[in-house]
Amino acid sequence: MEELFSYDGQLVKVTRKRMKNMYLRVQKPDGHVEISAPNRMARADIVGFLAKNWDWVNRKQQAMREKPARPERCYISGDRIPVWGQYLELVVRPSTDNQAAIYQKEERVLLYVPDYATMEQRREIVNGWYRRMLEKAIPTLLPRCESIVGKRAEECRIRNMKTRWGTCNVLKARVWLNLQLAKYKPEALEYVMLHELTHLWEHGHGPAFKARMDRYCPDWRRVKKELNANADFE
Ligand SMILES: [Zn+2]
Repeated sequence: MEELFSYDGQLVKVTRKRMKNMYLRVQKPDGHVEISAPNRMARADIVGFLAKNWDWVNRKQQAMREKPARPERCYISGDRIPVWGQYLELVVRPSTDNQAAIYQKEERVLLYVPDYATMEQRREIVNGWYRRMLEKAIPTLLPRCESIVGKRAEECRIRNMKTRWGTCNVLKARVWLNLQLAKYKPEALEYVMLHELTHLWEHGHGPAFKARMDRYCPDWRRVKKELNANADFE
């Protein structure tokens, strides 16, 4: 069941559900407000809840206005493809032998695909390319980070992750890195590698973990902030 009411000049959508608590969301991309509320909750209680959180709503809306949604990447000529912190122009050309190829030529990325390749298939090819970049970077990066941290990883593997930059299986001393890291400055990859190796000393992200990060990577807070501000897990 849905109802609409206006609050402070904005239209608020309320969806009634069988639930105990109320939830408030500011929806992308336009910042409209939606509330999920228990079936029998009085309107006055909903309005009170909204009033209490209205500053938060305004801050969220402000942030959305300042940071417009990233335009969808379609993997067609003219798209901008991030590589190690720089944007390169994508040039898509038809491949003649049904094979795909991708490589960088000066400031451009040349992608050869059959005409019928879907956007999803093109994205896969680009992601495969990112993976190969990491595979190339890791053999020098890993030993350097291991000597900084003073721990060795048994294995370092790469995969495409939707929400995390890396993980560490402490028991197996296995580090996983997100292939998406090839999009960012190399310092981001190094920070994530140091972070995951540091988990071989410390579980969690408490004060002891942070103290080690301060020693191994003095600039980690800035690098982390930049990386998360530009997170693009496509
Ligand atoms: Zn961690």
